[in-house]
Amino acid sequence: MSRYEAVIGLEVHVELKTDTKLFCGCSTEFGQEPNTQVCPVCLGLPGGTGVLNKKVVELATKAGLALNCAIGTYTWFDRKNYYYPDLPKGFQISQVFRPIAYKGYLDIDVDGRTKRINITRAHIEEDPGKLAHAGGSIAASHTSYVDYNRSGMPLIEIVSEPEIRSGDEAKAYLEKLKAILEYTGVSDVKMEQGSLRCDANVSVRPVGTTTLGTRTEIKNMNSFRAVQQAIEYEVDRQIDVLEDGERVIQETRGWVENKGITITMRNKENPDYRCFIEPELDPIELTAEWIEGVRATIPELPDARRKRLVAEHGLPDYDAGVITSSLALAEFFDAALQKYPDAKTISNWIMGELLRLLNARNMELNEAKITPDGLASLLQLIEKGSISHKIGKEVFETMFEEGQEPEQIVKEKGLSQISDEGQLARIIEEVIAKNPKSVADFQSGKKQAIGFLVGQVMKATKGQANPGVVNTMLQEKLGK
Ligand SMILES: [Zn+2]
Repeated sequence: MSRYEAVIGLEVHVELKTDTKLFCGCSTEFGQEPNTQVCPVCLGLPGGTGVLNKKVVELATKAGLALNCAIGTYTWFDRKNYYYPDLPKGFQISQVFRPIAYKGYLDIDVDGRTKRINITRAHIEEDPGKLAHAGGSIAASHTSYVDYNRSGMPLIEIVSEPEIRSGDEAKAYLEKLKAILEYTGVSDVKMEQGSLRCDANVSVRPVGTTTLGTRTEIKNMNSFRAVQQAIEYEVDRQIDVLEDGERVIQETRGWVENKGITITMRNKENPDYRCFIEPELDPIELTAEWIEGVRATIPELPDARRKRLVAEHGLPDYDAGVITSSLALAEFFDAALQKYPDAKTISNWIMGELLRLLNARNMELNEAKITPDGLASLLQLIEKGSISHKIGKEVFETMFEEGQEPEQIVKEKGLSQISDEGQLARIIEEVIAKNPKSVADFQSGKKQAIGFLVGQVMKATKGQANPGVVNTMLQEKLGK
């Protein structure tokens, strides 16, 4: 057992799903030509103050409420001053002193236990532009380019209390946060497109003490798995430093994915952003009625949906947790259940075949061609005995990749289950003739030998024989 415990807080930046930017009418669409979605406001040219996008306030409030936060009825924007080429104004507009949402929480499940992680605050801010370094890294390149399409995009930064204790907990926190934001529709939450980004503050301290150790901030993590691994690496590194009698240096470190390590990016002892209230923008004043109006638009959230799947459909809690972990999966489940009312069977196929194929191919559900109706039709074919369970998996994979109807696949590939006794009798005779030892074993009382013989028939028919029928026929033939 380690003598140390990790103290981890996460800062998550989430791009809000609006059509236009925070203070101007430029488009927020992802993936356009560099510097085509810009104007004097988001380029920070003199004279362009801009006007607050009301939709941003609505989505930030919605996110805050879904995260059990209190909502500030009187808040404002502040300037955070620093110079960097991605920020042409020389300051970032953020909410430093009064965040729109504060004191919330979310619950995570790790190792079968539920743990509450408190959320310090969620505030609105503008995204800076994006640098591209020719030659890859900033150190290796002679030239850097700036794309200001992202400049002025609306973000909320969600800051957790330092109550996370491991990489596993951090990953569970991010998964839950992502699900909640996805359910509420406030963001695309696509880490690969940068609409969800995470930094981790990590320190360690001896177990039983309450003073915080010196922390490092970890950046450059591009997946939840990377966050988990980077934290595990950094915790071990800091423990080693302390065990060697040295001290941890407060700094920003970058995760190097292909090496599985964190390295020093920059020393940042005490940055002074010289923050002050933004003088050119009005404060945000919200009435209790308006906030309640936003609350009324929040749909059923993951935890509630999970409880409902257990209560209404009798699903095991574990299944319900997996299915409600993403809105897409939960909707797929509901739609399939409309056509095939056997919740546990659908859940088995989702958790088994569907998730297995998505993970193996590193795909999102919306990229797969299989539909909930298609899965329901497939399950009907299996139930009727038209195809075996094993063939069903093969058909499922074709549906996943090509999106055809199961009936069509079964017909084209000639996969129908063989239940016809006349057809099976010949194959069974052959199997009996070829396996005298198993036959003798069975007849001398070793009942399990029948399993081997059934398996041989299945093999001879490439899985198309109806195993139940084969079993009965074999028993009859061998004089059971
Ligand atoms: Zn603009």
